[in-house]
Amino acid sequence: MANHFRSNERQGSEDVDLFDETTSTVASQVSVPGVESGAGTTGSSAAVEDTSAPLEQVHVVTAAEPEDTTAQPGYQSVFESLSGVDAPVVSRTGNPTISFKNVTLIYPAQPNKPALEDVSLDIYPGEFVFIVGHSGSGKSSLLRLITREQVVTAGEVIVAGQDLTKLRNKKVPYLRRQIGTVYQDFKLLTDKTIYENVAFALECIGKPRSVINAQVPEVLRLVGLGEKMDNYPDQLSGGEQQRVSVARAMVNRPPLLICDEPTGNLDPAISLGIMKLLDRINRSGTTVVMATHDREMVDSMRKRVIALEAGHVVRDQEKGGYGYYGAI
Ligand code: ADP
Ligand code: MG
Repeated sequence: MANHFRSNERQGSEDVDLFDETTSTVASQVSVPGVESGAGTTGSSAAVEDTSAPLEQVHVVTAAEPEDTTAQPGYQSVFESLSGVDAPVVSRTGNPTISFKNVTLIYPAQPNKPALEDVSLDIYPGEFVFIVGHSGSGKSSLLRLITREQVVTAGEVIVAGQDLTKLRNKKVPYLRRQIGTVYQDFKLLTDKTIYENVAFALECIGKPRSVINAQVPEVLRLVGLGEKMDNYPDQLSGGEQQRVSVARAMVNRPPLLICDEPTGNLDPAISLGIMKLLDRINRSGTTVVMATHDREMVDSMRKRVIALEAGHVVRDQEKGGYGYYGAI
């Protein structure tokens, strides 16, 4: 199976399906007819203010409570095509890829407010799981425990059978080689070309030039950037830059992909392209765990949803939607 963690540094030949050239054009161009990027409602309201008019009650939409555009009549989601009806069913048996057992994380700067408290969950090979919740609810902290950027204050985090609370620091790089990461800010090296950015990920783990020369163009074609390998990041759109970071995360063919708000800086039509890519990567066997604020996308995709509120799991739902933004 492609979704098992490798026990050594050899590249298995079994996980080539993701990089099969028959799939390499699917993600290339995503165009969504009839979709606007959300601008256009912020026009100037500099008209003369009539101070005598009675005050109308206004509903202020804050960052933590995005406007619910899905409630409008005739609304059709950009993400309709990703509704997941034909998604493979993952049998949640055997050993989980990720297991949290009564995990509490307290940052020294906030000793009285655990970032996560008594969190238990299991994520199985091949699953696609959304982590949702308000800003500050603990999503990034949860992901940082999986990559061992943070260590629990109490409880256990087990990834691919390894107890990360006991994992020696010198073993951490080996863990990270098996986890691809994608962030909201693409974290590309601006003085390197697209090709060099992706190649760098392989150079850092000592891959020979022959492997780099074969895998980098292949993964860039997979994400639809075969023609832009020699461009620099600032010559690409935001969506293209994010595809580079997905390519960089996947070039070493990790069995687990962790994404922290990967579409946070992208408009819905562009986000759709990234989601299609992540969905395809997942269907090839990679386990995907993605933190997001993007309520519309989560509602549409009908994947497993784990909701956090103030560091607690408040919902863990198979094929869920984003749900309510309850008061904390
Ligand atoms: P989210 O990703 O859902 O926005 P975070 O995991 O970033 O949430 O944050 C959860 C809580 O932990 C928040 O109260 C935040 O202020 C706190 N926090 C996050 N990172 C740190 C840190 N490095 N030091 C201290 N507190 C932190
Ligand atoms: Mg975060």
